[in-house]
Amino acid sequence: VSASMGVTLYPQDRADAEKLIRHADQAMYQAKQAGKNRYHLFDVAEDVAVKTRRESLARIRRAMDQREFVLYYQPKVNMRTGEVVGAEALIRWQHPDRGLLLPADFLPVIGNHPISLELGEWVIETALCQIAEWRSAGLDIPVSVNVGASQLLQSDFGERLGALLAAHPEVPPGHLELEILETDALEDMAQVSELLHTCRNMGVSFSLDDFGTGYSSLTYLKRLSVGQLKIDQTFVRDMLDDADDLAIVEGVVGLAEAFRRRVIAEGVETVAHGELLLPLGCELAQGFGIARPMPPAELPDWVAGWRPDAAWSSGGGRVPSRGELVALFAEVEHRQLARAIEAYLAGERSAPPPLDAPQCRFGHWEEQEGRQHYGAHPDYSSVRELHHRIHQMANRLVEPEEPRSEDDVRAGLEEMHALRGEMIRKLRALLNDEEAGPAPSRQE
Ligand code: C2E
Ligand code: CA
Ligand code: CA
Repeated sequence: VSASMGVTLYPQDRADAEKLIRHADQAMYQAKQAGKNRYHLFDVAEDVAVKTRRESLARIRRAMDQREFVLYYQPKVNMRTGEVVGAEALIRWQHPDRGLLLPADFLPVIGNHPISLELGEWVIETALCQIAEWRSAGLDIPVSVNVGASQLLQSDFGERLGALLAAHPEVPPGHLELEILETDALEDMAQVSELLHTCRNMGVSFSLDDFGTGYSSLTYLKRLSVGQLKIDQTFVRDMLDDADDLAIVEGVVGLAEAFRRRVIAEGVETVAHGELLLPLGCELAQGFGIARPMPPAELPDWVAGWRPDAAWSSGGGRVPSRGELVALFAEVEHRQLARAIEAYLAGERSAPPPLDAPQCRFGHWEEQEGRQHYGAHPDYSSVRELHHRIHQMANRLVEPEEPRSEDDVRAGLEEMHALRGEMIRKLRALLNDEEAGPAPSRQE
């Protein structure tokens, strides 16, 4: 003879007597299921979570039936030519009480629940209708749709997509692009790779979203026939202040070039982001600095009125030179140094950044390639001198010989800033002096 016992505790479990018994009974059932001869404690928090999720899912189901979901569209552009190259469909929930909700507010609740498949199909179907509607109004642009893991890994995804396309013969399949997460694509490489082929044969193209956040494996890149890499927005956003993020962006652009894939940057929030992306060789972009996601009715007027920033289009079709990249990196790296010192002095970081000139990327270039190619040039020694002074000032700010006032610190940071400007100017002059160095070509 053995006993199984279910327990719930009052008042932790704030139920009435009848419900308390039911909870204890439920717990006893779990004890039996777990192999008998044991007790099981009713989990109040889990019960609440399960109930909340059940209610949320029911509400989402109702939202689908009542057509409360809508798609917003965010334009993708070529920053250099000014062409609008497409739009990404992004789901929103027009909630009657809570207003317009973002995907982060409801997609996690849905997770892998079967509703996600239905919602995913609704998104593709709605995007296809939108493409047709825009086309008949004279706006002919491709639309990309985000496809989640559970939808993508459905065994009949290809057939379902084929059926959706067949229902819209007025839409050229090439106008539909699917964005899949790098991390999802890797989950079942063989299956996804085959699916990509099937879809490509139908004319639908793919883009690897949030690229750089997964393993970014070269073998996978070789095997996956995706047309485009989408550089994750975290790298793009921080590339102005973080030389490592800048290096990642440069690396992804180089990978795309090597594998002959298109590359687009997301999270382009300012003109300065574009100014840095263009010389790296990334012309396609999407982000708040260009346009926020908007309701479909607003897109045609936006497309008609958009002009790229003058700073973007003025670059013409120039090939990024190696010298330009050296200057860009030097600038970002030393701005990063100044910011890090500022943060350290404000107590926002516990340790100072590495302060020595030879330890920085540019210091390395200066001693190797720079010396070799430009060592005899008079500007070379002034660049070196300015670089040295920047790091000297950094050292003095972090380890002052005598106590100093807030004003001294501010003046020191300002001087670092001015020295950096001066050094970059001199460096650009040096690198652009064609007599002085090697022919500036990226391929070299
Ligand atoms: P995502 O695919 O990476 O989409 C880009 C997200 O970045 C969008 O957020 C967009 O509004 C936002 N964004 C665009 N430019 C900028 C910028 O310059 N700065 C900043 N900070 N953010 C920018 P949203 O619409 O909230 O979507 C979030 C995520 O939800 C999407 O990330 C995507 O993974 C998912 N999602 C959206 N719609 C769908 C859908 O229909 N199906 C599926 N499965 N997932 C979706
Ligand atoms: Ca996306
Ligand atoms: Ca993304």
